[in-house]
Amino acid sequence: MREEKTVHVIGGGLGGLSAAITLATAGMQVILHEQQPTVGGKANTRMIGDFRFDTGPSLLTLPSVFARLFERAGKRIDSYIPIVGLSPITRYWFSDGTHFASDTWDRFIPTLMEKLSVTERQLNDYHAYAKRIWDLTHEVFLEHSLHAFATYASKKTLGSLLRIGSIDALRTMHTANAKSFTDPRMVQLLDRYATYNGSDPYQAPATLNNIAYVEHGLGGHGVRNGIYGIVLGMERLARELGVDIHTGERVDRIGTDRNRTIESLTIGGKTIPARMVVSDVDVLTLHDQLLGDPDAPLVRRYRRLPPSSSALVFYWGIDRECSALGLHNIFFSSDYAREFNRIHRQHQIAEDPTIYINITSKLTSEDAPRGQENWFVLVNAPPDDGRDWTDDLQQTRQRVLLRLSEVLRFDVARHIVAEDSLTPARIAHETGSFRGSLYGISSNTSMAAFLRHPNVSRRYRGLYLCGGSVHPGGGMPLAVLSGVIAGESLLRRFRRWES
Ligand SMILES: Cc1cc2nc3c(=O)[nH]c(=O)nc-3n(C[C@H](O)[C@H](O)[C@H](O)COP(=O)(O)OP(=O)(O)OC[C@H]3O[C@@H](n4cnc5c(N)ncnc54)[C@H](O)[C@@H]3O)c2cc1C
Repeated sequence: MREEKTVHVIGGGLGGLSAAITLATAGMQVILHEQQPTVGGKANTRMIGDFRFDTGPSLLTLPSVFARLFERAGKRIDSYIPIVGLSPITRYWFSDGTHFASDTWDRFIPTLMEKLSVTERQLNDYHAYAKRIWDLTHEVFLEHSLHAFATYASKKTLGSLLRIGSIDALRTMHTANAKSFTDPRMVQLLDRYATYNGSDPYQAPATLNNIAYVEHGLGGHGVRNGIYGIVLGMERLARELGVDIHTGERVDRIGTDRNRTIESLTIGGKTIPARMVVSDVDVLTLHDQLLGDPDAPLVRRYRRLPPSSSALVFYWGIDRECSALGLHNIFFSSDYAREFNRIHRQHQIAEDPTIYINITSKLTSEDAPRGQENWFVLVNAPPDDGRDWTDDLQQTRQRVLLRLSEVLRFDVARHIVAEDSLTPARIAHETGSFRGSLYGISSNTSMAAFLRHPNVSRRYRGLYLCGGSVHPGGGMPLAVLSGVIAGESLLRRFRRWES
């Protein structure tokens, strides 16, 4: 019986951990295999000299998604992950010198009215519009499989599909934002939400304007012990539920019989039986490398879709404090259309890139020595195309240092005392992410939500998929939802088979 109930999870990213928790909560025996020495995947942690860095994600939205996972196991999230609401959320610098901090909507409205040419009415109308899209979409598009008949049979889904016009899927984000506001700075601020899933606001459907509501309506959040605190909390819960976590264990091959029923895993030259597998590995890497099936029809189609953007990240230990900066900081480029065109159409880094800086030592003083700071500096980049990233890294580093030194009025380079960087190629290598894209396929078309790979394989019996490259998509909360949907799908089939 024990063997019959065994599920193997490949990959300990947020999706894999979430699937493991969902399955273990329901009484399954779960073994999780993670190739790296620690779980977390893109959401990992790294020490560089005396500075600790979160390697990837930095802003937490929708903590309720995480809380529900813990509630499912009968636990309270605050006993595991110290989440805090942020106020302010992000400090913004525009190329014309305008500077202000964002906040939850009620607190943000007065700032926007003071700093930009916007009216209270425009702002409230926009908030209501973004909330309406969120209310219509989140349950249908994010919380259930889009590939299960039951989803479409529900009244709520049908209602949402009938009101498809209200979710603004036919305009681009930028078109809708430029229609709502005439001040280009307000439009730029709202267009930036396309980058929350690696997309281009000049192509992505305006439905994604609901992200502005998620951040300003539902709130931006931090974690007292860093974003890696989320991974530590989930890992602890998984272990308490009996999940057997094997780190430093790469799965080389998933074996199947001639009917494509999963029957084994090969790990370090040893083959073990496996009948139920949940993969948190990027769907293309999974088919190319683990299944040896790069020409599977769905995968061939998927490979033709544009991947979401990747990133160049500089991790800098800075030997001073900078009071002008907060936990999250954005330095906007002067020409957003040109910047996205460079990344998404010319597949190059922008000459004048928007710069994001996250400094966790502002919230967690232990992350840097006293009087110093840990700067995580990110610039959007195209996915890896096999190039040598050395020149891009050097040029971008120079440009970023120049801009930051100008705005912050000190020579930033002279204060860097510890340093490392991350490129699209390194992201691909370390996490298995196809071409190092951060969020699976981009959301640059209105059909993207329906094109993502389902959470249940139609080609392989016994194979389930989670993580940012499959439904409902990338970003921390969505990766967690994917793990829940994959886990529940497996449980439904297992119970049918058992009875
Ligand atoms: C620089 C950067 C910034 C980001 N910023 C944000 C942000 O601010 N907010 C946000 O919400 N999201 C952000 N994201 C995206 C977010 O990190 C991801 O969407 C999410 O963490 C992906 O989780 P996942 O489940 O897809 O797994 P991944 O994190 O992709 O993990 C997959 C795991 O599988 C393991 N694996 C792969 N192959 C094998 C194998 N053969 N055997 C065993 N193990 C294997 C890998 O080692 C890895 O641990 C960012 C990502 C990056 C890289």
